[in-house]
Amino acid sequence: MEQALISARNFIDGTFCAPHSGAMIDVINPATGEVMGAIPDSAPADIDRAVAAAAKAFPMWSALTPAQRAAPMHKLADLIQRDAEDFARVESANTGKPLSLARSVDIARAISNVRFFADAIAHNDTETFENETSISKIHRRALGVAACISPWNLPLYLFTWKIAPALAAGCTVVAKPSEVTPLTAHMLGERVTEAGFPTGVLNILHGRGHTAGAALVSHPQVSCITFTGGTVTGQSIALAAAPTFKRVALELGGKNPAIIFADAATPDQLNATLDGVIKSTFTNQGQVCHCSSRILIQRAAWNTFVPALVKRAQALRVGDPLDATTDIGSLVSQQHLNKVAGAVELAVSEGGRILCGGARISASQLPERVRAGAFFAPTLLENLSPTCRTNQEEIFGPVATLIPFNDEADAIAIANGTHFGLSASVWTTDSGCAERVVAQLDCGTVWINSWMVRDLRVPIGGMRSSGLGREGGNEALRFFAEPVTVVRMK
Ligand code: NAD
Repeated sequence: MEQALISARNFIDGTFCAPHSGAMIDVINPATGEVMGAIPDSAPADIDRAVAAAAKAFPMWSALTPAQRAAPMHKLADLIQRDAEDFARVESANTGKPLSLARSVDIARAISNVRFFADAIAHNDTETFENETSISKIHRRALGVAACISPWNLPLYLFTWKIAPALAAGCTVVAKPSEVTPLTAHMLGERVTEAGFPTGVLNILHGRGHTAGAALVSHPQVSCITFTGGTVTGQSIALAAAPTFKRVALELGGKNPAIIFADAATPDQLNATLDGVIKSTFTNQGQVCHCSSRILIQRAAWNTFVPALVKRAQALRVGDPLDATTDIGSLVSQQHLNKVAGAVELAVSEGGRILCGGARISASQLPERVRAGAFFAPTLLENLSPTCRTNQEEIFGPVATLIPFNDEADAIAIANGTHFGLSASVWTTDSGCAERVVAQLDCGTVWINSWMVRDLRVPIGGMRSSGLGREGGNEALRFFAEPVTVVRMK
C-alpha cells in the first residue's frame, strides 16, 4: 500500500501551525529515494512562539500531582499502541530500517518509554534525612521549559526517551526531532490533544539543527537541554548553554569495542558469540550509538573466529525494508551512505583489508522497489592500527574493524584508546576475567555476553566525548528537577 504524503506542521500551544516563513523541508524515504512528506523549516520566530507556549503552561503543569501528569502520559502510550502499525510503517519508510525492527524495537520501546516514566514518577518519593537535631527533606522542583533534541537513528524511541521523563518530572517541553526522520514525532503530536495534555505542555517543533535547533538551545526561557546526537553538535550545544547556565545532558557518539576472549570462540560457545556480535555490529544498519565498531579478538581465537564472523556477515540479507526476511535495510540517506563509503575508502588508504562488503549495493542486486535506495553491504576490515583514523572516528554504519589482542591488559588498552567512552561488550565464559576487564573499561555501559539488554531503571550514557550526564530511571527524572532542601529542627 502506498503511503500518503505527510505534510507536517509545528505543534504549538495545542494547535498545528505553518512556520512563520512558510518554508518547508522535504522528507525522503531513503530506501526508494521518494519524497514522503515535508516539515516546517522553522526559524527563531517559530521557536519564540513554542517556548512562550511552554513557559505559559509550566506553572499549571508543574503544580499537578504526579498521578495527574501520569494520566495523559498513559493515554498517549495507549494511543501509540493502538496505532503501532501505522507508526512502524512510517518509521521504517522514513529511516530505511526493516519494518520488523521498527515494530519490535522502535515503536515498542517508544510505548514503554512513555509508560515507564508515567509509572516511575508515581514512585518518586520525597527523600528525608534525619539526625539527632534536625530533619531535612529534599523536594524536587521541575526546572521549567525543557528543550528535547533527538537524532535520526531511532527517531520515536529517542524522542520519547527525552520527552517522557521531562513531562513526568513536571517540565513543559519544546521538542525538536531530527529533520531527516521527523515524521513519527509529527504523528505523536497528532495524538497529544486526544491524550488529554493541556495546551502548551508538549510542543513539537520541526526544522534544521543549525537554525531551529540552535535558536532553541540558546533561548533564554529554556531551562535545560537534553540532546542526543553527534559529538560536534554536542560541543556547540554546550557552548550555547553556557552563558545562561542551562542544565545540559548530552548523549553523543561512540567507538564501542566488542572484546572477544578465546574462551568465547570455543566450539560450544562460538555460535552464541557470533549471534551476539553480529547483532551488536549490524543492528539498524550499524546506526545505533551503542553498535560495536571495533571488534577486538584474542589472537588465540583469531583463526577460528574471523572466518566464522565474515561468513555470518556475508549471510545477512540486505534488501527491501518491507520484506520480512530482510536483516539490513537502507542507510538513512544518500548523504550518509556517501559518508560511510568515504570512511571505507579512508580505511583502505590506511592499509585496511576488506574481508567482506566494502561497497554500496548496486541497483541490479536490489528489488525493483528499492533500486534507488542507500544500501551498503555489511563490511568487516582488518589490518588497521588501533590508533588510525578509522579506529578513532565514528562511522555510524554497517562497518567494523577487527583488531587482534594478546591478553586482558592489551584488550583494555586498545578498548580505552579513543576519546569516546560510550559502551563496550565483553565476551568470555570466565567471570573473573569479565570482572577484571569491566572494572577498567572507561565507558558508561558494559554488556557481558550480551548487547543492548536494557532495564529502563538503569543509567545510560557516556564518558569523555561520548557525553555528559545519564539518562534512564531516576537519573533522568532528577535531571529535569532542582533539588530544594528544607531543614527543620527537631
Ligand atoms: P546530529 O548531531 O547531526 O543531530 C542531532 C539533532 O541535533 C538533530 O535534531 C539536529 O537537527 C539537531 N542539531 C544539529 N545541530 C544543532 C545545533 N547546532 N543546535 C541544536 N540542535 C542541533 O546527529 P545525527 O546525525 O542526527 O545522529 C547521529 C549521531 O547521534 C551519532 O553521532 C550517534 O552516535 C549519536 N547518537 C548517540 C546516542 C547516545 O545515546 N549516546 C544515541 C543515538 C545517536
